[in-house]
Amino acid sequence: MVITAKEIGFCFGVKRAVSLCEKTLKNCKTCVSLGPIIHNEQVIEKLERSGLKIAASICSGAEPVIIRSHGLHPDIRKELVRKKRKIIDATCPFVRQVQQLVAGLNKRGYAIIIIGKPDHPEVKALAGFAGKKVIIYPAVRNTTDGLRLKFGNTERVAVVSQTTNTERSYRHAFGALQRQGLPAGTSFFDTVCRVTERRQTEASQLAKKVDVLLVVGSGKSANTTNLYRFLRRMKPETYLISGAAEVKDRWRQSKLTIGLVSGTSTPKETIEEVKRKICIQPKVTTKKPKGR
Ligand code: SF4
Repeated sequence: MVITAKEIGFCFGVKRAVSLCEKTLKNCKTCVSLGPIIHNEQVIEKLERSGLKIAASICSGAEPVIIRSHGLHPDIRKELVRKKRKIIDATCPFVRQVQQLVAGLNKRGYAIIIIGKPDHPEVKALAGFAGKKVIIYPAVRNTTDGLRLKFGNTERVAVVSQTTNTERSYRHAFGALQRQGLPAGTSFFDTVCRVTERRQTEASQLAKKVDVLLVVGSGKSANTTNLYRFLRRMKPETYLISGAAEVKDRWRQSKLTIGLVSGTSTPKETIEEVKRKICIQPKVTTKKPKGR
């Protein structure tokens, strides 16, 4: 039996980004994204076949430039405007709210701590709104030990989080920050995306009802890998797979109950394919004994 989580497939931010990209490709035949528009290889390959070009930095050309769901560093946006490139902004509205919050805090003179992965595109873009007094504080255990904060006691400090952090990882990082001594009156803004959080809650309940839990999505997607690590800790029989091709025969036995959950950048079709593959029982071939 397969039990699929209720909240699966694209979240609204990813759905919006993919749909904006598809519309642009329909109207303009081609467009450029600075980095993958979402973290899912199958979706990217499909969009590339329709005309999407992925560039690491601003390249010459006249195609529209689509800003991915993670947002874009304001300096790069300025450069695009200077070059008179048409911009299609697919930044997730929730990520944009966090950018506006950080830009406002920067204007009011706050030093800003971002709890997140320093190399994640959302964090890189967000840091651009925070001005010069910004610290990126890793949300991963053991990586914060060597980091020393250098704030004066009178300095105004605000803490925000990468939207796709798990509540557990951001609480851990926040605890570590407090132990290192934040100035009195530090403001903390909970900017974890509730979509991610809701999926974690539902998945942890599902984990109790099934024999094997499969997290469907890309290993490059932060929210998918966070979801996988979170579930794996509570249920060792949890596996991260990118699609139906990675379904193991041992999971296709009718006596097993399999749970399916997904990251926010996994299309529903991929989850359906996984479900179909599990439900179709593998053929049992019996060899005839020799000489008969
Ligand atoms: S996970 Fe949340 S913040 Fe990220 S794209 Fe989806 S809705 Fe937006």
